[in-house]
Amino acid sequence: MEIKKGIGVSDGVVISTAIVLDAEDLVIPKRVVPPDQIAHEIQRFEEAIKQSAIDVAALRDNVTVDHGKDIGGIFDFHLGILKDKSLHTQVKAEIKAQTTTAEYATSLVTRRYAASFAKMSDKYFSERVKDIYDIEKRVLRNLIGQKHQDLTHLNTDVVVIAHDLLPSQTAALDRKHVKGFATDVGGRTSHTAIVARAMGIPAVVGLGNLTSEVNGGDTIIIDGHHGVVIVNPDADQLAAYREDARRIQRRESQLAEMVSLPAETLDGHQVSVQANIETPNDIPEALAKGAQGIGLYRTEFLYLTLEREPTEEDHYIAYAQAMKNLGGRPLVIRTLDLGADKYTQAQLQNPERNPFLGDRSIRMCLHDIPMFKRQLRAILRITQLGDVRIMFPMICTIMELRQAKMILNDVMEELEDEGVPFNRDIPIGMMIEVPSAALMADQFSKEVNFFSIGTNDLIQYTLAVDRTNERVAGLFCPAHPAVLKLIRDTIRAGQRNSLSVSVCGEMAGDPLYTLLLLGLGLNIFSMNGPDIPEVKKIIRSTTLEHARQVARRVMSFDSERQVMHFLREETRKITPEVF
Ligand code: PEP
Ligand code: MG
Repeated sequence: MEIKKGIGVSDGVVISTAIVLDAEDLVIPKRVVPPDQIAHEIQRFEEAIKQSAIDVAALRDNVTVDHGKDIGGIFDFHLGILKDKSLHTQVKAEIKAQTTTAEYATSLVTRRYAASFAKMSDKYFSERVKDIYDIEKRVLRNLIGQKHQDLTHLNTDVVVIAHDLLPSQTAALDRKHVKGFATDVGGRTSHTAIVARAMGIPAVVGLGNLTSEVNGGDTIIIDGHHGVVIVNPDADQLAAYREDARRIQRRESQLAEMVSLPAETLDGHQVSVQANIETPNDIPEALAKGAQGIGLYRTEFLYLTLEREPTEEDHYIAYAQAMKNLGGRPLVIRTLDLGADKYTQAQLQNPERNPFLGDRSIRMCLHDIPMFKRQLRAILRITQLGDVRIMFPMICTIMELRQAKMILNDVMEELEDEGVPFNRDIPIGMMIEVPSAALMADQFSKEVNFFSIGTNDLIQYTLAVDRTNERVAGLFCPAHPAVLKLIRDTIRAGQRNSLSVSVCGEMAGDPLYTLLLLGLGLNIFSMNGPDIPEVKKIIRSTTLEHARQVARRVMSFDSERQVMHFLREETRKITPEVF
């Protein structure tokens, strides 16, 4: 039994079986074999190739059933490489020439392939480098005898133990069977954490070397509230945590009545409680928790789940699905926020030194106007289906906003010329997630219809704390008075200029900050679906007047500890069961 302490990023308790993802790429050292073993190595290589081709064909068929031919077809490229005669000849030649193992020769030749693909000027081929690495790993696993865990199709409930999970990996998880996450690295607002909260499953990150201490099949307890992971617990721990899990379930049933009630204070002040989503499939669950609309649709996940550049039609189909699932409720579509920790295959090959300060989000869109326009066309076309709003992320300067709006205008004119119908009055909003935008909220408010405060990035950029880095996670704090001032001033600028203001960062779903945000005058709270009932409960247990008093007091403090202590006490007074 081993107890590990990390950062709890998604509440709840789960007891389940571990699957462990590879921490690092497989590195194959060169080993010389006796000459009489060469035939055996060649035979091992042939068998591994055969098995890999069978695995890939099965994967392609499954993916085709679930996601259609286009996506399934990605694996035809893998099959093509696995069946490539030249690859076979080269690997066998290396085994003979270097009297080495099938593993080493495979690694050598596939890496040679990857290098020559990377050099190709055709983008399609240069972006296939990652596929070549995938193929290499698959063949090596078959050679070494390690079966790769296919996280998209699981048969039983598991918890995933990984060094880190890329946003693209978390997006592709089998949501039915993955019941918890625990990772070696990461912070509270890393996307792995956000996805865990959206899925409503417990997660702990920043556990150091957990992956080296857990074996697949171990029993694991993940306590997301206290940030604790227990490997192979004893009988007493199991009993205690089973009781904890039952208590959490009881709390969830108590909160079930919140779903159909309005988000209204005791003195009749109403606010809107909305959900953040990554894909249209998240909507039914969000509505089931009481979301009144979608305040943040992170559209970049379309890029992370497709292995190719999405077309205008891919965007349109996803947005149409979202509109259908929403049944008339509003949808805020955020334009692509790629870069930083959400990178495409092309960006993977060209890493930046400081990706969070680099070519991310709106900057990237303004550098790739054809890509940006494809998305804008789809967003405008979808306005025909209902209440759609557009939002630009990570705006730092007024010129960026004007440029984005100008491109939107160009797209409107193109659609008009083509006779394609759309709503010219689509509300245009921007995220306030860098200090420069918050400090200039008054000026920005003259040029947009709404603001949405992205506290995840606003905290990161105000406090100079990488939101994904577990080593500085203790410094990442929404309660820092500097952050609170930026939020307060943004809300005030919105009020002065009659703009609606929402918070869509993780702070909106944290019950510790509900009273404060309400008291600062926030009118839209957008959060992960599972957080909605608890936040609504707090809103319904207070008066606006009380919340305003709380906010006034909080704004007089000069340390985040004072802020958190006071908010915890005040919230406990009205909803004692919340923490
Ligand atoms: C934020 O930064 O608060 C936000 C909502 O955007 P994301 O988490 O997608 O960066
Ligand atoms: Mg952000």
